[in-house]
Amino acid sequence: MLELAILGSGSSGNSALVCLGETRVLVDAGLSAKQLCLRLEALGVDPDSLTGIILTHEHGDHTRGIEVFCRKRPLPVYATTHTCAVVRENVNSAVTWRPFESGSQLSIGNIKVDSFSVPHDAVDPVGFVFRCEQSSIGVLSDVGHVTRMIVERLKGVDTLFTEANYDEVMLQNDTKRPWSTKQRISNRHGHLSNDQTAELVSGIAGPNLTRVVLGHLSSDCNTSELAISVIERKLADSGLNEVAVECADRAKPLPLRAAARASAKIPVPVEEKPAKSSRVCEPSTPEPQTDLPNDWKQTEWAF
Ligand SMILES: [Zn+2]
Ligand SMILES: [Zn+2]
Repeated sequence: MLELAILGSGSSGNSALVCLGETRVLVDAGLSAKQLCLRLEALGVDPDSLTGIILTHEHGDHTRGIEVFCRKRPLPVYATTHTCAVVRENVNSAVTWRPFESGSQLSIGNIKVDSFSVPHDAVDPVGFVFRCEQSSIGVLSDVGHVTRMIVERLKGVDTLFTEANYDEVMLQNDTKRPWSTKQRISNRHGHLSNDQTAELVSGIAGPNLTRVVLGHLSSDCNTSELAISVIERKLADSGLNEVAVECADRAKPLPLRAAARASAKIPVPVEEKPAKSSRVCEPSTPEPQTDLPNDWKQTEWAF
């Protein structure tokens, strides 16, 4: 059975852990290496026992711990080819880059990982579904709007970890941010509001859905109580009252929990797809050029 823990989530840093037996995959590494180690140890996981790191996108709040964390631990880092190209510019550690194409399926240890494109202001952002025979976990972080593909790919997961970044009224009333920043946050390549996340959750919810973990909450324009209430109300409207909804914390980890109910032992067919690319980013390999301005890379809207 897959297990999910959240090491931390918010604009200050994001990292989650997906485990299946001895396979332990860090999803994003946006906390400092010290915090990654401390929080893994708090979860009872030896930082030296990880199988690999997989990245949703290149923004610093998802990647800033890689350089130092991987100095002592030359782990494989999985990311799309474009994301690899951007992140490795800032990483000198002996990382083994494992690029993949968005939309392909990977195997990390004994976990199957489906990736899919999401709209966000990054070079090639993706979401994931982690699968084993008994369970599945959807991970969606930093998404401007919910596409039909996102709903299709996440439909039927047992556990969903998704961002719920802001409350629309709180964002409109916020006096700290200029209008242009508010526009960036709420536009189609920014972040999801509570209402958008609620629509997503009700759209993907099936009888297996056990748990929804909300992340990347704005510290000024959202509260965990508000976010949970919006999603719970939408689930109740759909007759789904058994789904546990909770928020990840910025400052402390959420413990490892099984992805599905113990009784949910119906095998989930794991579809095999050939990887579109097995090319490894070598230092000598010319990387695809993007037309992005230099100062755009590794940024995250200050939110
Ligand atoms: Zn982020
Ligand atoms: Zn981002």
